[in-house]
Amino acid sequence: MRHVVVISTGGTIASRWQGEGYAAEAAGSEVLAAGAVPEGVEVRVVDLFTVNSSRVTTAHQLSLLHAVHDVLADPEVDGIVVTHGTDTLEESAFFVDLFHSDRRPVVFTGAQKPLDAEDGDAAGNLYDALLTAATGSDLGAVIVFAGQVFAARGTVKKHTLDARAFGDPDGLPLGRVEFGRVSWGRRRPRAAALPLPPADAPHPRVDIIAHHSDGDAVFVQAALAAGARGLVIAGTGAGNTTPEIVDAVRAAVAGGVPVAVSTRVAAGAVAPLYTGGGAVDLVAAGAQLAGTLRPAQTRIALLAALLATPRGQDAGQTLHTVLSAAPQALSRSELYLADGVGH
Ligand code: ASP
Repeated sequence: MRHVVVISTGGTIASRWQGEGYAAEAAGSEVLAAGAVPEGVEVRVVDLFTVNSSRVTTAHQLSLLHAVHDVLADPEVDGIVVTHGTDTLEESAFFVDLFHSDRRPVVFTGAQKPLDAEDGDAAGNLYDALLTAATGSDLGAVIVFAGQVFAARGTVKKHTLDARAFGDPDGLPLGRVEFGRVSWGRRRPRAAALPLPPADAPHPRVDIIAHHSDGDAVFVQAALAAGARGLVIAGTGAGNTTPEIVDAVRAAVAGGVPVAVSTRVAAGAVAPLYTGGGAVDLVAAGAQLAGTLRPAQTRIALLAALLATPRGQDAGQTLHTVLSAAPQALSRSELYLADGVGH
């Protein structure tokens, strides 16, 4: 018998009609009752919280992180499934992944259709997640959705409504779940885990500022005035802004606020190509480039770096370590090269 613990946190997979719209309300045991449990797997449910995931806070994520570590203190447990709303699933999954050093997996799943939908995806996703949690090893946190297994790092919600809700715009799935078994592709070793922050750690404010035509430095200044301890710039193109924003970023970094640069574009890495307010100048101003991480996961990298760095030490250094770790999945181009297929 394999032992899997399901940590229930809400989301559409736990949602029912409220008269005007859907909201999370079902307990984990009800979510579990919606489908079958794979043979040879025994499940225990932990009801952690029940929210639509657009309402998830750092407090929820810290409590989830500690729940995962508490559950894994039991050597009888073989793996964990976290049921979570899809809206911010990639954020909570990456957060847990960055602190995860155990070989037993934490498998995040959810649904695009509510719990009681007759044509819903809750039961299938949960079944596949349980199978992955019961059998996987050395995965860190992964996302199982619509028959695919993705590394948490790099994966995003790519469609608002489609059942194939998740994907890595720059990488491949780690595996697939088909006909009741999980098959695995090639992957890289995982990066070292960050030290676990205390459950009652203060929650550093980290803001994302999206650049656009006619954008200015007002939101950078507003974020700093609101007490931001880290900033993410979602630049245009390969991570570009304006000379005014670069000046504001330079002042932020000089004041001890680390700044990471991602992009509003859906795929590809940010790169130091342009001056005149571009990523070349942002790097010169002390900002760090986030590679292929999209803005929401770049924010999680910065949040985790701040939580893992003792006050008074340089969180920017921790951020550098987090951002320079290679993604777990092979990229599409690497697979072509490895297979000798060419472009
Ligand atoms: N609103 C939902 C959420 O909690 C969407 C979902 O779960 O699919 O994120």
